Amino acid sequence: MNCEIIGVGTELLLGDIVNTDAQYLARELAAMGIVIHYQEVVGDNPERMRACISNAVSRSDLVILTGGLGPTADDLTKEISCEVMGAELVLDEDILEGIRSYFSSKGIVMPESNAKQAYVPKGGTVFANRNGTAPGCAVEKDGKTVIMLPGPPRELKVMFEYEVKPYLAQKTGGVILSKQVRTFGIGESDMAQRVADLLDGENPTVAPYAKDGEALLRVTARAETKEKAEQMCDETIEKIREKIGGYIYSTDSLNLEQTVVKLLREKGKKIALAESCTGGYIAKRITDVPGSSEVFEYGIVSYSNEVKMKLLGVKSETIEQFTEVSEQTAAEMAEGVRKLSGADIGISVTGISGPGGGTEDKPVGLAYIGFSHSGGTYVHEVRTGRSLDSREYNRYVTASNALHMVIQHFYERDE
Ligand code: ATP
Ligand code: MG
Repeated sequence: MNCEIIGVGTELLLGDIVNTDAQYLARELAAMGIVIHYQEVVGDNPERMRACISNAVSRSDLVILTGGLGPTADDLTKEISCEVMGAELVLDEDILEGIRSYFSSKGIVMPESNAKQAYVPKGGTVFANRNGTAPGCAVEKDGKTVIMLPGPPRELKVMFEYEVKPYLAQKTGGVILSKQVRTFGIGESDMAQRVADLLDGENPTVAPYAKDGEALLRVTARAETKEKAEQMCDETIEKIREKIGGYIYSTDSLNLEQTVVKLLREKGKKIALAESCTGGYIAKRITDVPGSSEVFEYGIVSYSNEVKMKLLGVKSETIEQFTEVSEQTAAEMAEGVRKLSGADIGISVTGISGPGGGTEDKPVGLAYIGFSHSGGTYVHEVRTGRSLDSREYNRYVTASNALHMVIQHFYERDE
């Protein structure tokens, strides 16, 4: 089955918003083994939209449109797609009721214009919107399928995952299941090279991608049953493990902070933080995870040297001799916060996020992460290598490295 994605909206055409819906869909579809031949963007203009959809339907088996399902006059995707496909739009009373109660749950009376969203193609498939009002839908004719999805990414993603995927799986035969293999400390190209022979597979497919300093592999299997698809994914993950096992920190879709909280809970340990250049970023990410209160003691944003000394007990000689961005300061900070808090693990970060403050010796992107536990204290040096326009990136990646140190600690010691 070949596919084409059309983003609808003048704001996309003019670059006011980035077409992240197409990126998301392309990735998901590719992982499902659906080949994408074209991607386009068209403005909210009826003639051009009609031409674009007709052209797409003439050459692709599956056409997915995003955006233009809203209540306003320029939201025309459904009307024009159904016209091209020769499908009649009919009012669905249940959907209308659903939209009304969505509004009343917020204490608002539904604006009449929203009734437009309750019209769906006769004989088509409707996809519920768990995060908004506009349902998605699909129409089929002569072996061609047109799917219409809402533009807002949080609506589109949930609808695709829970409604469209099963619908497509049924069309392509069987169940489609994906698992993520998350790695840390290896670059995307290096990772891809090491698992190269698995990347050509058709079922399961293995697709590499990089995100914010991490490299991931998505394993997707298609099978008659969920159990079989699961088994196929697991077998491939085992093969991946043989090649890059040391870099893998999770195969159960948990990210770094979720893995940290899970491990700390399992081991019954508590953590405390002393963050300088990350300014509380690690604390934020840990406390993003439900249940983190069981394992997170507290975090101190020890930005100034006074706080590092007064609160954490870093010696003034250490800062004088080695500066605040040094292995020695990081070690004393980590030890200090562990003792102060009584937690099992103390983590510290001190570094240079940029854009200013870097030297040849200590460039922007350099950070020292201290790790202190009852067995001793050690320090890990991070160099992100990024100095231009990278403050956010440096802080994020440094925080990721700190989280990964906690994971490594448990994986290596198994205590
Ligand atoms: P609404 O009910 O909000 O009008 P809609 O389905 O009509 O939804 P659009 O009006 O096209 O969708 O877009 C609404 C918002 O969704 C846009 O302002 C933008 O923030 C986001 N959006 C739309 N299309 C895309 C896209 N392709 N990629 C990322 N975001 C998008
Ligand atoms: Mg709209």
